[in-house]
Amino acid sequence: MSGRISPELKSDVLERTDIVEVVSARVPLKKAGAIYKACCPFHDEKTPSFTVTPSRQTYHCFGCGVHGNAIDFLIAYDHLSFREAVEELAQRAGMEIPVSTELTRSGPDPSPLYDLLEQAAALYRHQLRRHPQSPRAVDYLKRRGLTGEVAAAFGLGYAPPGWSFLLSTLGVNAPARDQLVRAGLLIQQDGKCYDRFRDRVMFPIRDRRGRVIGFGGRVLGDESPKYLNSPETAVFHKGRELYGLYEAQQANHRLECLLVVEGYMDVIALAQFGITYAVATLGTAVTDVNLEQIFRSAPETVFCFDGDRAGHDAAWKTLLSVRPRAGNREIRFLFLPQGEDPDTLIRQEGKEKFETLIRKSAPIDEYIYDNLTRNFDRNRLGAGDLLVEKALPLLKSLPPNNLTRKLILELSDKADISPLQLDVHNQLAGSRRITLRSQYATQRMTPVRLAIARLLQQPGIAAQARKAADDWRTLDRPGVGILAQLLDFIADCPEISSGALIERWRGSEAAVHLQKLADPSLLPAISEDGQVAEFLGALETLNKEAREAEGERLYRRTSPSQLDEEEKQRLRGLFSVAREDDA
Ligand SMILES: [Zn+2]
Repeated sequence: MSGRISPELKSDVLERTDIVEVVSARVPLKKAGAIYKACCPFHDEKTPSFTVTPSRQTYHCFGCGVHGNAIDFLIAYDHLSFREAVEELAQRAGMEIPVSTELTRSGPDPSPLYDLLEQAAALYRHQLRRHPQSPRAVDYLKRRGLTGEVAAAFGLGYAPPGWSFLLSTLGVNAPARDQLVRAGLLIQQDGKCYDRFRDRVMFPIRDRRGRVIGFGGRVLGDESPKYLNSPETAVFHKGRELYGLYEAQQANHRLECLLVVEGYMDVIALAQFGITYAVATLGTAVTDVNLEQIFRSAPETVFCFDGDRAGHDAAWKTLLSVRPRAGNREIRFLFLPQGEDPDTLIRQEGKEKFETLIRKSAPIDEYIYDNLTRNFDRNRLGAGDLLVEKALPLLKSLPPNNLTRKLILELSDKADISPLQLDVHNQLAGSRRITLRSQYATQRMTPVRLAIARLLQQPGIAAQARKAADDWRTLDRPGVGILAQLLDFIADCPEISSGALIERWRGSEAAVHLQKLADPSLLPAISEDGQVAEFLGALETLNKEAREAEGERLYRRTSPSQLDEEEKQRLRGLFSVAREDDA
């Protein structure tokens, strides 16, 4: 890398920067004598050990040991490169960075792209203002209820019809056309170039520093695709940008809350009606980079979804990526009334009512609780498995508070799993153990329990056991002993009733479990044939496991010569059985 930032420039920038301003724009600081304090943004803590010292222009955390100056802070907090951090501070201080210090990155310098995109944005804006040429675009925006003021704030423009508007104005020679292609503004095909955006309302997408990095273009009618975005370029990465973030930061000295919505028009309509803190992802699901930006930009986040099925699906998806990164942040999920989106709702209801909805929206963990407990039907076969599958990945990311405990208790009750098994957060650390636990939990209706339950509810089924092998009796596993006792007992009294059977074990250690497994609602009501098949299936599963366990035990012997002839025979037999089972 050539073109360094000189030490003089660095100290110049630092001299004109107040670290308190830089930090407090991102982390709420409290004055404490000559210094400022906050809960450390770099490690989890409840009492503030992060300090900023104006006299030294440094920050220091007594908890985790991070420290440095304003540049270091931006590098750590905003994930900027050294150069970006210096540029950011220079811009804040109104300084120009001398061209000689331009960093040459690997690959061509992207800065000409910024200029080109800015020029294109200006041309598109100009097209929109030249009313006679663009009545349709103006009509469209008016029809959507946008004022000229908000259109200007978001830099809206219009790409005229035809194939060569930008080509003819900016693509004056081959190098210029090359750059336009790199900027995503021209498409090059078979050696010819033409405009990517044609007859569309243009939404410039700006980065955090307000530079145009790409565009979204919307058709005026019903043609498809409705929205067209710039392709990925050296300066535009869909998964890394949020539409409206720059504008939100311009409109609010300090952002208290970010409202994450779906579309550009939602962001703009909300802004027009005074909700100037909405952002949208660029046609993708929210990414980790998005989340980092969102969390960095405001202490509170509200994710807004349509109230229909698709909205709820989207919310669940968002939840799965948000929750693990959420920590103790204030995050809410807002569902709009069915059939509404933010654009339509804000026009009908206005700012005040919309903000009431925001305030009343569910905190993320309440949403999780409602969703998981409401949508669970304990009488449906496999519902418990589904629930555990759905809930388990989330449970480990929930904070260990009362709501989580309540959720764990309720789920364990509904899915008939011990709370301990579900309480992954407090009991387990490390993903491997969670996987193991999760497999165990999802199989909580084990073959043993299933066989016992069928037997208790239909003792006559015991006679069928003769059709299965009884390798399972060698298995060392909870319940196997009792299953064997039950079968043997029924063999002696084949006419015994379900009630008498349970009576027989009253007062024993197993009684509680048997009582539970005798509950008819535990198993789905299926045909008698089905019950037999299920019972035999459970025994077969156990047989297979028993054979595998036995095979492994024999196989573990250091050398086959240590096996006696009978054992060798047995091992061969086991493997051929196993192969049949796999087939
Ligand atoms: Zn710290």
